Amino acid sequence: MIATTPLLAAGWNDQQRAAFQAQMSAWQKDEVVGVLFALFLGTFGAHHFYLRRTGLGILYCCFFWTGLPTLVSMIEAFFMPERVREYNAQLAAYIAAQMGTVTPAVAVYSRACPACGSTINADANFCSICGSKITK
Ligand SMILES: [Zn+2]
Repeated sequence: MIATTPLLAAGWNDQQRAAFQAQMSAWQKDEVVGVLFALFLGTFGAHHFYLRRTGLGILYCCFFWTGLPTLVSMIEAFFMPERVREYNAQLAAYIAAQMGTVTPAVAVYSRACPACGSTINADANFCSICGSKITK
């Protein structure tokens, strides 16, 4: 289930929505998995690697023998659901932005001239073909 679909997706067509959902389900992280990593593999910073905080993960690995990362990650386990939601929200915004540049939604504003039936600009005051005044 994807709870982080951004509002800017409102103007998307079905194809764009499907592409977005596919990207999200492939990349988004799971809150439960995040908590489990922190609880059972937190000693080695697994929960940090999971959310692509590689620097922190490496730091935990370096100091695992002190036992300190184990203690810290037990506490962090409580904050993991929020961190995972944050990560997914950022991911959703990133994917949406990427898609926005790839497939810009070009809206075509046009209408038919009531006098001659030619396709004209929707906000035109006069028909560019026959010159009659357009009443809105
Ligand atoms: Zn016209």
